[in-house]
Amino acid sequence: MLGKSAVILVIVAIAAIALNLTFAHTLHFEPLGLLGFGLFCLGYAGIIPLLSRRTEKESVSLQSAQKTFTGPSIIAGQAVVSRRPTNRSDRPCHALTIDLEDYFHTEVASQGVSFSDWEHQPSRIEPSTHRLLDLLDSNHTKATFFVLGWVARRYPRLVREIHQRGHEIGCHSLNHQLVHRMSPNQFHESTATAKDLIESVIQEPIFGYRAPCFSITPGCEWAFDTLAQLGFSYDSSVHPVNHPTYGNPKAPRSAYPVAHGQLMEFPIATWRVAGRNLSVGGGAYLRLLPFQYIQRGLEAWEKDMQSPAMLYLHPWEIDPYQPHIPLSFQSTVRQTWGTTMMEDKLQRLLNQFHFAPVRDAHKGMLEGKGYTSRQSTFQLDQAVAQVAG
Ligand SMILES: [Zn+2]
Repeated sequence: MLGKSAVILVIVAIAAIALNLTFAHTLHFEPLGLLGFGLFCLGYAGIIPLLSRRTEKESVSLQSAQKTFTGPSIIAGQAVVSRRPTNRSDRPCHALTIDLEDYFHTEVASQGVSFSDWEHQPSRIEPSTHRLLDLLDSNHTKATFFVLGWVARRYPRLVREIHQRGHEIGCHSLNHQLVHRMSPNQFHESTATAKDLIESVIQEPIFGYRAPCFSITPGCEWAFDTLAQLGFSYDSSVHPVNHPTYGNPKAPRSAYPVAHGQLMEFPIATWRVAGRNLSVGGGAYLRLLPFQYIQRGLEAWEKDMQSPAMLYLHPWEIDPYQPHIPLSFQSTVRQTWGTTMMEDKLQRLLNQFHFAPVRDAHKGMLEGKGYTSRQSTFQLDQAVAQVAG
């Protein structure tokens, strides 16, 4: 199986290089990048699924995690399906998460917009988030919104509205700094500030955290201890794939305890194909690749895994009217391509699969150790003083 994949990938690579050498002098863009992207889509959408008829069963650490966290899972007894359900009510429950940030907050956009320019950048977060909220309402679906501290400070009414409309609120850092670029002290200080800021806005403690760009990578495990110290119950910052800027392909694919059992890690959903993890967690993978790729990946997850899949996206991903940011071709693809189709794809996803906020999808695991009733570090007076300051 792996041999066939390797042969196909070598042929594809040779074809891309040959075409690039042929057309590089006549075109004014990066043909290799464009071809590579097209072939990447082709590979994901067609070739790899054909080779993966028999997706490998994972012997993940879920069993040990479930032994440690004895609470009953909300999907207990439902996760393994023997047929392909066509209606979302027949399916197990997965976790849907939104990283609440504007289009210029992304790591890709930082190549064209610096942090000092954020204040002056035209914002799109309110209309995009309202469209997303309306779409979720019309599908009777709640989600978890991991809120950027900068957004909570600038748009407190928007964050309160999300909370009042029944969605779970979590933290997506203070200023979108990557964890692996910070010292433990910097991470502790900025995360504590963001948590207090967000809690002061919604007047409730929060329990979930997601690092920008899934940046709790190998070597940054100290961040889990910090999150536990700050009163978080769970994290969703591990993406168990090979990726040039993030990812930990050796991490478990499903929920596992970290920080000496004080914190649960809920990794982004992956599809095991030919011995490798492919992301089917949403975001750019949903936006740029054919819908059937995510659909088949989630079906494989439901067949083989015993826990909810973790999906994510951003409000700017359903916004085709993002103001222009000067970026390289590759970065432009990652930042803007597929935004026209994203809302339709999300609707199809909501039609076919069953989603809930993390706190509900993983209710059993979070309640197993009394996490949701644990004393919070929330200090209202302190948080209000920070917002006022
Ligand atoms: Zn982000």
